[in-house]
Amino acid sequence: MHIAVLALQGDFAEHEQVFKALGHTTYQLRQKKDLDIPFDALILPGGESTVQGKLLRELDMFDTIRKRIEEGLPVMSTCAGTILLARQLLDDPTVHLGTLGISVRRNAYGRQLSSFHTSGTFAGMKDISMSFIRAPQIEYCQPGVEVLAEHQGRITAVRQGNQLAMTFHPELDTDYRVAEYFIKEMC
Ligand code: GLN
Repeated sequence: MHIAVLALQGDFAEHEQVFKALGHTTYQLRQKKDLDIPFDALILPGGESTVQGKLLRELDMFDTIRKRIEEGLPVMSTCAGTILLARQLLDDPTVHLGTLGISVRRNAYGRQLSSFHTSGTFAGMKDISMSFIRAPQIEYCQPGVEVLAEHQGRITAVRQGNQLAMTFHPELDTDYRVAEYFIKEMC
């Protein structure tokens, strides 16, 4: 597979490493013309959603990416990337791509618990490593959104058709099963 990784800001290099380790080729999207080259799937990394959203607009990549996702391009997001996909941000009037039927609250875990590591069940697979870094919380899902993981009653991973979104960072661990799920089940 040829996997495009949005490389404007954030931990795109870690995502590339995971897919390379699984035998795929990766490709960085840094400017509008990078979208002209065909790719099989798109990764939206963690980082800072405000900065990523601003750069997507400034670089005029926003509409093309949204259209491709709406047309069925497989997309996987972590943390800030999930905020970019969400249809609604709670406490914030901004909507970025808005293709995924979830409402999220940014930085929802508070100061004390802003970053932590745990493991849990994802799509029926047990003991998946989950690193949370100033993570958002998915508070509501529209019909058609499937919950794939939860941690202490909070939704941490969802899927809606061609879109897979996490509030944690599977790319920061050497447990590659989330990326494998994405490739096998969605690409
Ligand atoms: N707190 C960041 C945001 O709101 C997300 C953090 C992350 O991607 N690890 O964009």
